[in-house]
Amino acid sequence: MPVISKILIANRGEIALRVLRACKELGIASVAVHSTADADAMHVRLADESVCIGPPPSRDSYLNIHQIVAACEITGADAVHPGYGFLSENSKFADILDAHGITFIGPTADHIRLMGDKITAKETAKSLGIPVVPGSAGEVKPETALEIAREIGFPVLIKATAGGGGRGMKVANTEAELEEAVSTARSEAAAAFGNDAVYMEKYLGTPRHIEIQVFGDGEGNAIHLGERDCSLQRRHQKVWEEANSPALTQEQRMKIGQICADAMKKLKYRGAGTIEFLYENGEFYFIEMNTRLQVEHPVTEAITGIDLVYEQIRVASGAGLSVTQEEVEFRGHAIECRINAEDPRTFTPSPGTITHFHAPGGLGVRVDSGAYAGYKIPPYYDSLIGKLIVHGRTREECMMRLRRVLDEFVIDGIKTTLPLFQDLINNPDIAKGDYDIHWLEHYLAKTSTK
Ligand code: ADP
Repeated sequence: MPVISKILIANRGEIALRVLRACKELGIASVAVHSTADADAMHVRLADESVCIGPPPSRDSYLNIHQIVAACEITGADAVHPGYGFLSENSKFADILDAHGITFIGPTADHIRLMGDKITAKETAKSLGIPVVPGSAGEVKPETALEIAREIGFPVLIKATAGGGGRGMKVANTEAELEEAVSTARSEAAAAFGNDAVYMEKYLGTPRHIEIQVFGDGEGNAIHLGERDCSLQRRHQKVWEEANSPALTQEQRMKIGQICADAMKKLKYRGAGTIEFLYENGEFYFIEMNTRLQVEHPVTEAITGIDLVYEQIRVASGAGLSVTQEEVEFRGHAIECRINAEDPRTFTPSPGTITHFHAPGGLGVRVDSGAYAGYKIPPYYDSLIGKLIVHGRTREECMMRLRRVLDEFVIDGIKTTLPLFQDLINNPDIAKGDYDIHWLEHYLAKTSTK
């Protein structure tokens, strides 16, 4: 892959390290960028070169496009990997890199725009043959809300067009609740995204969150790599992800996967993408598409054996996909636990210095983390400090292994969400794979009153 020779990684934490590892394996030079708060971070230590791009607040460093482009110019990086979060779905960033002749390792700016606005994304998905959640045709204004809600049928969900991270989302169970739900969603959306536009969807009662990993070469060839079940969520944030979903048959998997791959072919999509669905009573309902690598991508890597970052770099350098759909095989089962520096009961962030750190090992175990003994977790960023991914030949074997591995993992000095997973692994519903998107919230409410 000669086209890309030096990649600047416009991110931090475990994902910066993840991309760095792929660069090293592929023999591509790497540049880390960091804020002053991350000078001692592992991704900075392990990169070939590093550039400080500003003070701790993200808007002055990891979101500072000028500084990042300047860092590319200074180091001669010819490509940028944005990771997830930060600038990964920022079409302006992709445009600016393009104007500077720097390769953005991701889709085209137009595709980012298309999927970034949720109303346009839904319309596009529908036109590409993807099943969507019944809802409003476009934006909902306070004065039209009631009429639209009656048509859809209560309960309804008000969602921000510019949404992300579950913000600007409100349920209205009855007509009486509608006015307030619309106005709260609008003000939350305005505060979070600077855009108060909202739309409406049928509120599904007990769905699972199932997402399909897709990959396109930008020339009209695209494949799917199966699904991930991310139903275990707290405040719409994923906590535990697994592949395959305990709810799908191989036939269902291949059917929805093919619908998504065909849609990406029509779109001439380039790079990695995730098409997110709610799944209820055997039906899939599109909610959004993420035009980037996801946090939970390792579970897909575990069961397919395909390195998704390699694939992203290949596609960005014009070498196309390394596998055909027929060559993709799904082997065994994988579970990812997101380890956050948070109190496992209250989920309040717990930054500070890690005094002891021992990562588990053994067959089928992967730990993606930039943490180490002596590492001081800065208070400025997301509280994800690592991901534990366990693979087994069956879901049962995977769970057995996960139980052992959780006991072995030591992170002292700060609070982490590890104890939550130790509880979950012993829960009969989890053992059966019998849960929906509300399960974890209910469970946490029950256990906190004990
Ligand atoms: P965001 O981009 O803010 O994360 P999503 O559209 O991806 O928003 O939805 C996040 C989560 O919110 C979903 O995983 C699901 O738990 C819940 N959700 C979204 N749409 C619906 C719906 N129509 N009915 C029920 N729950 C929903």
